Amino acid sequence: EFVILNGNIINRSEASIDIEDRGYQFGDGVYEVIRVYNGKMFTAQEHLERILLSAKKIGMEITFTVEEMKTLLAELIQKNNVQLGTIYMQFSRGVSPRNHPFPVPAVPQSFVAYTKEIVRPLANLENGVKAILKDDIRWLLCDIKSLNLLGNIMAKQEAVAAGCYEAIQHRGDIVTEGSSSNISIIKDGKMHTHPADNLILNGITRRKIIEVCEKGSIPYVEAAFTLADLENADEVFLSSTTSEITPIVEIDGKQVGNGMPGPVTKKIQVLFDKEIETECGS
Ligand code: PLP
Repeated sequence: EFVILNGNIINRSEASIDIEDRGYQFGDGVYEVIRVYNGKMFTAQEHLERILLSAKKIGMEITFTVEEMKTLLAELIQKNNVQLGTIYMQFSRGVSPRNHPFPVPAVPQSFVAYTKEIVRPLANLENGVKAILKDDIRWLLCDIKSLNLLGNIMAKQEAVAAGCYEAIQHRGDIVTEGSSSNISIIKDGKMHTHPADNLILNGITRRKIIEVCEKGSIPYVEAAFTLADLENADEVFLSSTTSEITPIVEIDGKQVGNGMPGPVTKKIQVLFDKEIETECGS
């Protein structure tokens, strides 16, 4: 199995990271997860542009271009012969004696990427999943895909401990996003999703959903919605690169709508599948 370390494709067994890597010690870095369908990356352009933007927002200038990263990642997929799976990639601010301020002069960033084979979550897509509500205790720069995920993993763990798939986070009355997904609701045929501000990660799947809503003439609005809106929603779904568009059929033990995935969510799923087919083939 091959991995990328600092721009080189090497054997995983030969890859190592220094104990004073700032990603390891501070979570000082950014990451992406890209889906691979049919041996091809889906929405790679958007993910790679987002990692450059995330890096910029933490004062880190990634030295690779989108095209350079695409070429390297495509080579990794080919070498590992991945048909259906994901690529995980991260950049940290590099290796330097532990000290909070950024290293001066700057040191080379640590760039790691590897592949994983995973199937599509077909049962969840079809039947939906359960969620809990959870106070959003995270910081105020949730638009950055940062390696710091403590708030997210603590929320997820609470969901899992409750026998659920996801934690729907809220700041006061406003629903923000899941612990590793965006949350959208359908009310009277219209899709509502939180605007892309500092309180959520602007999901690539979320953006694709907006695109297919436009193509499929599904009305939508990018506007914050409340816990009451969530409770009164006809349909609720989560979206992410790995979970795609997963219906949420129960929240804190209460049924959403009639407790089954709804028609608008299903329509969005079909349109989303078409996007995958168009970009990656079937
Ligand atoms: N929000 C959070 C906090 C996430 O971690 C993720 C992805 O894992 C998303 C939203 C969805 O983003 P994307 O659709 O780009 O995977």
